[in-house]
Amino acid sequence: MNKYSLYINGKFVETKEKQNIINPSTGRVIAEASVASLKEVELAISSARAAFDKGPWRNLSLLERKAYIFKIAQGILDNAGELAALESANTGKPIKEATFMDIPSSAKSFEHIANNFESYLQAEVVNVNNEANAYLSRESAGVVVLIVPWNYPLLIACWKLASALAAGNTVILKPSSLTPVSVLELAKIINNAGLPAGVVNVINGSGSIVGEALCADKRVDMISFTGSNEVGRHILEYSSKNVKKSIMELGGKSASLVFADTDIDVAVNSSLCSIFLNQGQMCTAMSRIFIQDEIYNRFVDEFVKKAKRIKLGSSDNHETQMGPLISDAQRKKVSAFLEKAKAEGAKVICGGKIPESIELKNGYFFEPTVIIEVNPKMHIFKEEVFGPVVILGRFSNVEEAVELANATDFGLACCIWSSNVDFAKELSRRINSGTCWINTYGMFYNELPYGGVKQSGFGKELGKEGFLEYTRLKNIIVDQSFDSKPLVNYWYGF
Ligand code: NAD
Repeated sequence: MNKYSLYINGKFVETKEKQNIINPSTGRVIAEASVASLKEVELAISSARAAFDKGPWRNLSLLERKAYIFKIAQGILDNAGELAALESANTGKPIKEATFMDIPSSAKSFEHIANNFESYLQAEVVNVNNEANAYLSRESAGVVVLIVPWNYPLLIACWKLASALAAGNTVILKPSSLTPVSVLELAKIINNAGLPAGVVNVINGSGSIVGEALCADKRVDMISFTGSNEVGRHILEYSSKNVKKSIMELGGKSASLVFADTDIDVAVNSSLCSIFLNQGQMCTAMSRIFIQDEIYNRFVDEFVKKAKRIKLGSSDNHETQMGPLISDAQRKKVSAFLEKAKAEGAKVICGGKIPESIELKNGYFFEPTVIIEVNPKMHIFKEEVFGPVVILGRFSNVEEAVELANATDFGLACCIWSSNVDFAKELSRRINSGTCWINTYGMFYNELPYGGVKQSGFGKELGKEGFLEYTRLKNIIVDQSFDSKPLVNYWYGF
């Protein structure tokens, strides 16, 4: 069984308190990880602070930093098979998903930043007037705390780390205590890449103790958080006592609008992915799909027929199309949402329960679930379930579609399905969301900033804008007065 230590100030630190790491496909223990106490929090913050204030990292040439970032990307690629197996075993996501999506995308996020951050950091000259020459300079933000959730543990950590490191910051990374394995493996890769001590610190521990102590500390300059709204709001409250920048990537209740002129087969197949990939545990899950009246019955029939064919199984089986939920607690949460929806009048037409198969009995599996007859007043219409549960609703015209899509407090993503792309592009402007996919789903690019609006949060990941989140903007003004004496020189008339 693998044993994992924390990574602080360039050393692997074992703590007294240990935690079992569970494989949600089987309920079995797969690893043991050290758990941080406030002592390790203190050590991590002081190390990151010293490495920022006194260490070489932020003063390295961009070329030197670039070489380190490339080394991390290469380290991920060199260990891709093992990382995919561990990520899959720890999260329950099918090995196919971890192999082809999570791990290569994690390496690519470092590669992309290494190739582009120099141009992202270019100072911008601003035309003010003749007496001054002014420009905007980008500097490192400082010590950054990165807090990540359990649904894409390595990938989301890499999105944040690549930008934070390239921008010259030092970091403390806290994975979810349900899924620390891949990130603690990444610590080994970072250590092998030879980054100076204290630049990256990885500590596993509870959100309410370790996470809170990290985010509340005055020596931390910035928080980059991805997780639930409840925790995000809480962090904003207590971290505000020591004013600091934060970016918040929170939940979603995204809508997909399927118009009658679309290719139904393509829309059905992609819509299945848009809710059942990663067992529906995706912030951008299209958990509300609205279909135009003319094709509603056909779409629903096809969707349900195919949802029933999705192959549930152990995450390490290459044939598995859907794994277990992350924990028994998460499965209970999903069941409770369904019970409430039924009590409020919704109808379950597919799934809705724990599968009966003997092979799945020890894992936290839940059937792909489709519900209909849901209205905007119901809890399930408004709240994020974070599981394999989709609402199929209907609309008759564009106005109704827009109203339904926007009838939520969230604003993360949306899909529009229509053969009239000009119409879809125009319509995308009316949906409150940070991303709009037209005739596709789930295409993320390192070049494109990603993030939500409304209750889905603020700030961006990825792209130039996502990178720049991890910098501070300074304006620099050089006096250019014609007689070479600064204008302020004359203020007191001396
Ligand atoms: P969570 O909020 O429970 O936990 C997220 C992280 O916060 C974990 O590392 C946890 O240990 C830590 N944490 C918990 N309490 C804390 C506290 N008081 N102070 C500091 N840190 C604390 O979320 P989760 O259950 O791990 O993930 C699911 C949620 O994440 C969903 O709501 C999902 O929509 C959201 N999510 C959003 C995005 C996005 O990009 N917008 C991406 C993935 C997941």
